[in-house]
Amino acid sequence: MSESDAFRAEARQWLEANCPPSMRLPIRNDADMVWGGSRITFHSDDQRAWFERMRERGWLVPGWPREFGGGGLGPREQRILEQEMRALGCRQPQYNLGIWMLGPVLLEFGTEEQKREHLVPMARGEVRWCQGFSEPNAGSDLASLRTAAVRDGDDFVITGQKIWTSQGDKADWMYALVRTDPQAKKQQGISFILLDMRSPGVSVRPIELISGKSEFCQVFFDAVRVPARHVIGGVNQGWRVAKRLLEHERAAMATFSEGGAPTLDALAIAAPYLAAAGPVWRDRVAAALMDQQAFALTARRLKEMAIAREDVAALGAIMKLVQTEQESAKYELLQQLMGQRGLAMEGDDFTADERAVCRMWLYTKSYTIAGGASEIQLNIIARRVLGLPA
Ligand SMILES: Cc1cc2nc3c(=O)[nH]c(=O)nc-3n(C[C@H](O)[C@H](O)[C@H](O)COP(=O)(O)OP(=O)(O)OC[C@H]3O[C@@H](n4cnc5c(N)ncnc54)[C@H](O)[C@@H]3O)c2cc1C
Repeated sequence: MSESDAFRAEARQWLEANCPPSMRLPIRNDADMVWGGSRITFHSDDQRAWFERMRERGWLVPGWPREFGGGGLGPREQRILEQEMRALGCRQPQYNLGIWMLGPVLLEFGTEEQKREHLVPMARGEVRWCQGFSEPNAGSDLASLRTAAVRDGDDFVITGQKIWTSQGDKADWMYALVRTDPQAKKQQGISFILLDMRSPGVSVRPIELISGKSEFCQVFFDAVRVPARHVIGGVNQGWRVAKRLLEHERAAMATFSEGGAPTLDALAIAAPYLAAAGPVWRDRVAAALMDQQAFALTARRLKEMAIAREDVAALGAIMKLVQTEQESAKYELLQQLMGQRGLAMEGDDFTADERAVCRMWLYTKSYTIAGGASEIQLNIIARRVLGLPA
């Protein structure tokens, strides 16, 4: 038996013994997802047991080194673990923006002290992170950000505003981009800094969304003191850290279809409508399913390329673009198929599934904006994949 086969057998056996049956059901709503952090909440004993068992095994972050609370798995073993979890239908035991985005850049750019301070609590699910990049006039054009950080002794003093901060009201810490040199060229005067959301001078205001959920915030900084040792990658060197982090964000968003986010069994919901619909509708649904399958196979190929240490970072823009546009198109198609039954978010005349379809139709539109809008992904693909002039 090869080493990979032995690891696969061991992983499967462990997952079968340790993943409770209720943690193998599809994620249907927010209560099914455990967000790490100081306010971590479990909605069942099984949820807690699954989280704690995976944490003790280091598999909340299987690819991180053991010394930072991870499982120490190599890329091939990580892939096998992912496949075995998917085969059994295991839910992700913990969600945390820090793990998908900040952790990998800390491993690459952080000092030993920074890694020890921040990676271990993240790996144990004790700290929830939010991302403070966008500002009212700096979204796609992120390098125009104006939140200022002025050096004062051992600290930076931060003043300004962030917007669209997902979970800003629930997070313990934020990783943020701040302007540390207003005289330098746009990208060169930016630093990447970590700050405690309980610091005096931080205030958070939630923003309500059309889908009825409110998961974004505005975050205001009024002379917030942050120790200079929390700058990652060097003062005025934040842009390269941010670019790498955005690559990880795109990669994470491109794996939504692998069971990472709440989703609906769109095909099961579509089935009764399809039975009554004509061949044109069945054609459209078949085409959408084939696109999804092609995407899944391409994603598998990219993972194999990454394991073979090929550089797939720029290709992540294609995957993010296609995945988020496909998810959005899926709910658009489902809603059209359902006619007026797919148009209500509320009301007792509609079933829970029907109302959920309308919500997801609205919500998936945000996927094509978050992490860089589709037009921006096209720009990245033009420059970095196709090599076209800027
Ligand atoms: C669900 C969600 C979660 C988010 N979470 C966070 C978060 O946690 N932290 C955070 O910092 N931000 C977050 N954001 C903000 C997100 O990064 C920005 O919304 C995004 O970068 C777009 O910026 P903007 O909204 O300012 O739009 P703009 O930049 O004003 O863009 C408006 C439109 O113009 C187009 N456009 C702009 N520039 C160009 C160009 N050069 N070429 C072609 N078209 C262009 C855009 O594609 C878009 O269609 C989130 C957004 C969403 C939707």
